[in-house]
Amino acid sequence: MTDSERIKRNLTEIKQSLPPDVVLVAAAKTRSADEVNTAVTAGIDAIGYNYIQEAERMRPLVEGTLPWHMIGHLQRNKVKKAVELFDMIETIDSERLALEVNKQSVAVDKVMPVLIEINSGKESNKSGVLPEDAIGLIRRINHLSNLVIVGLMTMGPRFGDPEDARPYYRITKRIFDEIKKTEIPGVEMCYLSMGMSNSYQIAIEEGANIIRIGTALFGERAEKRNIPLITRN
Ligand SMILES: *Cc1c(COP(=O)(O)O)cnc(C)c1O
Repeated sequence: MTDSERIKRNLTEIKQSLPPDVVLVAAAKTRSADEVNTAVTAGIDAIGYNYIQEAERMRPLVEGTLPWHMIGHLQRNKVKKAVELFDMIETIDSERLALEVNKQSVAVDKVMPVLIEINSGKESNKSGVLPEDAIGLIRRINHLSNLVIVGLMTMGPRFGDPEDARPYYRITKRIFDEIKKTEIPGVEMCYLSMGMSNSYQIAIEEGANIIRIGTALFGERAEKRNIPLITRN
């Protein structure tokens, strides 16, 4: 089976297991333009990148008009580029970052949909706002003119057994419902982005409607296959 056939088969299998309203973001880091274009043709819903440099390099090589999602930690000095490259930023986790995204969006007359990233496992080495600080952050940034908060995203701790991720998805869903109920101006809680290759089914059971899939779509990444990477952003 060729790489292209394998990606198509993987996507068909994943999609068969998804409810119709779930948005499948292909987590495309380290993948070739051919691989990403195959996934686009096969019917993914959006393209996700973690690094600005890689997204910038790939943008002209990737066909079609799908939305691009920033799914990695975003540094403030990269926001101008991010606003050019992406149609959604899933990883807003501070007021300073939100202010910069708003400022750069104003500069190019763009309204940027964003998700608030929740550090649902309260892991000190992970980005994201702590669950208890999420509403406070949203209340400090909801007035920004060119940024619209459309939901939440979480990674959650990585486990061998995806069932162990369930409590963290549940925490994030609880915050999502709470914010939705609160009806804050400038906030439209539509999207809950959680779940990756090994955990997306559980994430969907807990209310996810965006999933970010790399390995299950494209296969193991080179770093895991011990093939040295030539470029690293
Ligand atoms: C790589 C990545 C994913 C996908 O991970 P897989 O386990 O390969 O499916 C999802 N979300 C983020 C933020 C990622 O960096």
